[in-house]
Amino acid sequence: MKGFLVLVITTYLCLTCYAQDTITEDIKYTREIKKLATKKQVKTAFQVILDLEPKTIKNHIELTEIEAPPFKEEIRAIEFSKRLEEIGVDKVWIDSIGNVLGLIKGYEGKRNVAIDGHLDTVFPEGTDVKVKIKNDTLFAPGIGDCTRCLSMLLTIAEAIKKSEIKTRDNILIIGTVGEEGLGDLRGVKYLFKNNKPKIDSWIAIDGGNIGRVNNQALGSYRYEVKFKGPGGHSWGAFGLANPHHALGDAISKFVEKADEYTSKGPKTSYNVGVISGGTSINSIPYESSMLIDIRSVRPENLDDMELILKKTSEDALA
Ligand SMILES: [Zn+2]
Repeated sequence: MKGFLVLVITTYLCLTCYAQDTITEDIKYTREIKKLATKKQVKTAFQVILDLEPKTIKNHIELTEIEAPPFKEEIRAIEFSKRLEEIGVDKVWIDSIGNVLGLIKGYEGKRNVAIDGHLDTVFPEGTDVKVKIKNDTLFAPGIGDCTRCLSMLLTIAEAIKKSEIKTRDNILIIGTVGEEGLGDLRGVKYLFKNNKPKIDSWIAIDGGNIGRVNNQALGSYRYEVKFKGPGGHSWGAFGLANPHHALGDAISKFVEKADEYTSKGPKTSYNVGVISGGTSINSIPYESSMLIDIRSVRPENLDDMELILKKTSEDALA
């Protein structure tokens, strides 16, 4: 190839979502849960939750009707914190990024178990969030994901208080900011980065699918891979390094090598989702890029796949 190509690989997002491929029962936990369920306070708590249903729905509707796009959760956060205070949890505060935290002290209190729901919804400012009720169903943007979670958190906190459940560890009821879109989990990231308060265990309530429990984190790395060249006329400059050809070669090499990780072992995937660049059919492009998403339930596989991506992209320059 004549001319030089330049390769730029940008990692521009890492996130976590959730997966659960196989379910195995741990008998130890099953026994523990059965024992817990027979306790008087736990039975009372379940009854309190049923009795609180009208209040849960009221909280659900009223919080839904306060807009909360990512980065603009403040008004909803204040309202959520007020309701936690009314329930009488031991301490309520809003941290410097905007998360609402409510503490229910444990009798030992050495560990903190967090139960979270996100304060924001995916809908932009100005969306009509008035709740409409048809028969037994509530309709409004963001009512499921995840204002329902906030109403559940309030009811959980109230059920614990009213049934006088005393836990060994502290419970933190948390409404987090910036889960959706460009919020990029900023509330949760802030908590784990600062480790104040220290989080020992985390339960997130999210989405509207009741009955599904996810107990594994799925890591995702995302990249933009870009080849740049001088560009030129397809006939006049034929033979000049072509970024599209290099990109195609890079994808082909990557797919071949990645097979080692995707065909066996812990589930690992990749997807070239967007390819762009070029100006016309008879111009050698000066730029060619792709967006690629790599996922795995095993963190080491993500790092190995990253090495493969870098190596095969570099090899495509040759
Ligand atoms: Zn959500």
